[in-house]
Amino acid sequence: MNKHPDIFPRAAGKIYLIGAGPGDPELLTLKAVRVLGLCDVLLVDDLVDRAVLAHARPVARIVRVGKRGGCRSTPQAFIERLMRRCARAGLTVGRVKGGDPFVFGRGGEEMQAMARAGVSCEVVNGLSAGIAVPASLGVPVTHRDLACGVTFVTGHARADGQPGREADWPALARCGTTLVIYMGMRTLDVITRALIDGGLPADTPACAIQNGTRGNQRSVVATLSTLATAVSAAGLGSPAIVVIGEVVSLADAASGLDLLHESARMSG
Ligand code: SAH
Repeated sequence: MNKHPDIFPRAAGKIYLIGAGPGDPELLTLKAVRVLGLCDVLLVDDLVDRAVLAHARPVARIVRVGKRGGCRSTPQAFIERLMRRCARAGLTVGRVKGGDPFVFGRGGEEMQAMARAGVSCEVVNGLSAGIAVPASLGVPVTHRDLACGVTFVTGHARADGQPGREADWPALARCGTTLVIYMGMRTLDVITRALIDGGLPADTPACAIQNGTRGNQRSVVATLSTLATAVSAAGLGSPAIVVIGEVVSLADAASGLDLLHESARMSG
């Protein structure tokens, strides 16, 4: 939203920051489907399933701006410039992101950039991977018998050298909530050791789920001390959600769901 409507002239075009959910196209919201059908241009991130784009207008221009879209990684400044230009040309632009645009999705940065440029911008929420992906294994992240809450945290410090907050793992080890870690696969070994050093019991149930809610979902269920080894033995990589906490002990409760997917199970 433009916070200064009287200062900046409002451009005719509009940006929608659209959350496409974790992968399964049935997990799109009705609003996302409707808005996808309004857009002239869609700027689409990597993690967005192709089936989601079936809701675009046939004449919509689709631009892949993620790492696999041609460049290794489209610079954020370039994406924001493209958003501004399209909106100023009077186009309705869908900036389509995996999960929810405001959960580790840079949606906040883009919203601020559009506000600075006087471009109208609206968020269309999506189902974040941190909730939907554990659920696909039958893990309820806030199950009240076992957790007093959930913490969403990134395992990946900012790569651009800019100051950003890095997680305080020893504090998280003591916080008593389920830990749901995004982008944690590369540093899983370091994270799990830091949590154990911080006092979280080594036998705390833990799992990693790659490509959650997609046809190629794979998961490993282990403990805090064995997860990193189990993940590399199973060859799991990104994109994956890591869940640490007693709630992971419920992973079996809905294992019927997981039978749909290849699942490597390890414990110890
Ligand atoms: N905005 C997104 C998160 C973007 S950050 C959301 O709300 O879900 C990208 C990270 O999200 C990935 O590295 C991975 O940790 C996680 N992720 C996204 N989709 C996923 C999926 N289908 N399965 C497992 N992890 C996923």
